[in-house]
Amino acid sequence: MKTLFKNGTVVNADGSCRTDVLVCGEKIQLMGAHIDSPEAKVVDCEGLLLFPGAIDAHTHFDLDVANTTTADDFASGSRAALRGGTTAVIDFACPNKGETLQQGLELWHRKAEGRAACDYGFHMTLDDWNEGIRAELPAMLAQGVSSFKMYLTYPAMMIGDRAVFEALGELKKLGAIAGVHCENAGIIDALTAARKAAGELGPASHPLSRPALAEAEAVGRLLKMACLQDAPVVAVHTSCAAAMAEVEAARARGQKLFVETCPQYLLLEDRYYSLPDFEGARYVCAPPLRKPRDQARLWRGLAAGEIQTVNTDHCSFSLKQKDAGRGDFSKIPGGLPGVETRFELLYSYGVAAGRISREKLAEVLSANNAKLYGLWGRKGAIREGFDADLVVYDPRGEHAIHAADCIANVDYNPYEGFPVNGSIRQVWLRGTLAVENGELRPDIAGQYLHRALPML
Ligand code: MN
Repeated sequence: MKTLFKNGTVVNADGSCRTDVLVCGEKIQLMGAHIDSPEAKVVDCEGLLLFPGAIDAHTHFDLDVANTTTADDFASGSRAALRGGTTAVIDFACPNKGETLQQGLELWHRKAEGRAACDYGFHMTLDDWNEGIRAELPAMLAQGVSSFKMYLTYPAMMIGDRAVFEALGELKKLGAIAGVHCENAGIIDALTAARKAAGELGPASHPLSRPALAEAEAVGRLLKMACLQDAPVVAVHTSCAAAMAEVEAARARGQKLFVETCPQYLLLEDRYYSLPDFEGARYVCAPPLRKPRDQARLWRGLAAGEIQTVNTDHCSFSLKQKDAGRGDFSKIPGGLPGVETRFELLYSYGVAAGRISREKLAEVLSANNAKLYGLWGRKGAIREGFDADLVVYDPRGEHAIHAADCIANVDYNPYEGFPVNGSIRQVWLRGTLAVENGELRPDIAGQYLHRALPML
């Protein structure tokens, strides 16, 4: 089956151009001006932008955490992703405590297989470190898992500086990469205890117990450990100017590193935690939302190429689940939905607002994730030979984001009422129309992405 996208403007990280795109089966077969293909079905893209399908390299679907399970599993999460222009997600597989990485990988395959509507890969979480786990790393790479996650906070997840340092060295040897959650656990524990002792138990205590400098300390420590191992590393969900100062320092000493941020750190502010009626709980995530000046620093970092990717950290909980923290802010499950709204938000507040170019949008949503996570050559660009993952974007018109219009399994939206510019007209997954004007085709099926090593 062939589809010919005519008269659209193709937007890639390395440039935009008005060109036709001929799709044959699952792949982009040919690009050029005025392609004729009598047997192809024609999609007229006059006045529309064609972006490569977005990749979300930071999702948490069907994750048991904080004595509950995230509201979105692979079925609802991946459908929300597709509807939001994301054709591939990389989710964080995590072994149960004491189990092997292999068991963790098989567990995540069971969660995703037959349920995911978009394509999917897995990072592997290293929440334990010993000779057995070290010995398992090559088998992970052989099964398409080329990136790993470590935590410098959360008692259940953190493995300590020695283990992080050793793991960075081992991953470097294998050509793999680690993404690391950077916050200082000791500072957070002490400040959390102090807020509780003072009887300050509401969501407003959440950002005060996780200050920007506690993140910056951990970013700086991670980058120094990575420097000593000459290991590339990703500072995930970077939220603040203080952390960016550590990034600048590391680059000034010649270090190669990658920075991810998320829409919530670009668009939402810590004052939301003080909203009445426990409404602040719906914004609880870690790191927490920061100040307007942090947002400005992140936008500047995106435009300047200091930040390589924008992923969502989609980790959704219903308001009822958030209620677990009434009376104790430290028990509010941490995480926000985001996978469904990232594209339109970044287009609107980035491109339409003049903060970043549309090519930069294609770079931070698609190309850089594909390169960093071993998908380049198949994903990340509209190019001959690549998968036909396409977002057909209509830059005209305006609408507002409402939870009621979203299909993620959450009863609120952190961006409720945010106006956005333009809209996603269609989403194509490997040559198949997956979404049209917000309607998801029911029979769309994603496949597992066996990922290569990162392109560093
Ligand atoms: Mn996360």
